[in-house]
Amino acid sequence: MLFETITKTGHEEVVFCHNKDAGLKAIIAIHNTVLGPALGGTRMWPYATEQEALNDVLRLSRGMTYKAAVSGLNLGGGKAVIIGNPATDKSEALFRAFGRFINSLNGRYITAEDVGIDVNDMEYVLKETEFVTGVHQVHGGSGDPSPFTAYGTMQGLMAALNVKFGNEDVGKYSYAVQGVGHVGMEFVKLLREQGAKVFVTDINEASVRRAVDEYGCEAVGLDEIYDVEADIYSPTALGGTVNEKTLPRLKCKIICGAANNQLATDEIGDELEGRGILYAPDYAVNAGGLMNVSIEFDGYNRERAMRMMRGIYYNLGKIFHISKRDGIPTYKAADRMAEERIASIGKIKLPHMGNVPPRFMGRAKG
Ligand code: NAD
Repeated sequence: MLFETITKTGHEEVVFCHNKDAGLKAIIAIHNTVLGPALGGTRMWPYATEQEALNDVLRLSRGMTYKAAVSGLNLGGGKAVIIGNPATDKSEALFRAFGRFINSLNGRYITAEDVGIDVNDMEYVLKETEFVTGVHQVHGGSGDPSPFTAYGTMQGLMAALNVKFGNEDVGKYSYAVQGVGHVGMEFVKLLREQGAKVFVTDINEASVRRAVDEYGCEAVGLDEIYDVEADIYSPTALGGTVNEKTLPRLKCKIICGAANNQLATDEIGDELEGRGILYAPDYAVNAGGLMNVSIEFDGYNRERAMRMMRGIYYNLGKIFHISKRDGIPTYKAADRMAEERIASIGKIKLPHMGNVPPRFMGRAKG
């Protein structure tokens, strides 16, 4: 059953990590390492069942393969989940035990923060292994990726404007931004700097107030965001918000935002085009955070990060080109671009077998 599942999803390796004394139950899934070591965050979540945890890690690690591949990075896809409640089950021993499992993979998997994990937890992991990114800047980390993700989203937006309207005049259009958190707030700031009209919503009223007072956005209700007359809808909070209920309500011409898994189903993705809506595939648009941590390998450099973010514009351009060339929806074109890259590089190199990347050799350990 387990091997059948892994065969279907195409994973190279799935590691079950257990340490009774530390109370560790974790799964590391390495999906594909043809392009490079598998990089992806660790999520801590009180999964109701082990099967649920397994499904999540398999799905998320596969997603990382596609994100890295479409972004032109020399990275594979992986992810880890720790089964437990982040509010009550954390301890130094748990994260160090987990770090030892990561270390045993000798660089085939490199971790980072994800839901339920913070920079302090990663400091413990770093005590046992160097295969950690996104740690504090004093350890050579790159810090908060959100401003980069927002800047990358702007690049994706300009590519979409170009294809849809034949210009990249961000300020000429109106935007409905759902979620003004770490990424969203930075994104609306960039939009407003260009003079765009921006509608915002968020469950956090203080964030909405800040977007209105500091950046001059217009607040709308949580559900109202789907009905506003805006040229661009930017999901920047949750996944699955483009679904059969919301789609008939959307008046936009472009969907471009930073949230993961924006389309509820593939069928919704197929339907968008018929409605004249250009979808900028989420994992290509929001790759700024991943790009940013990838630079840590060579010694973090902000200038290089910003240059890399601008590549998102060209990546989106290629996706839109494939969509047109092959007559397929843009979400499928993104998958195709990722798969073609992995297939072609796979012909000239073997999967990453875990030699220690020299770039990690000199990094200080905590
Ligand atoms: P965040 O938690 O800082 O912000 C999310 C915001 O959405 C919060 O302000 C929250 O109150 C709001 N929100 C939650 N539910 C809502 C709802 N129903 N309606 C309106 N607002 C709601 O997270 P973030 O780091 O800004 O990330 C935003 C999205 O982008 C997430 O989907 C995340 O997975 C994705 N993403 C983030 C990064 C990054 O660098 N942070 C990178 C890639 C993808």
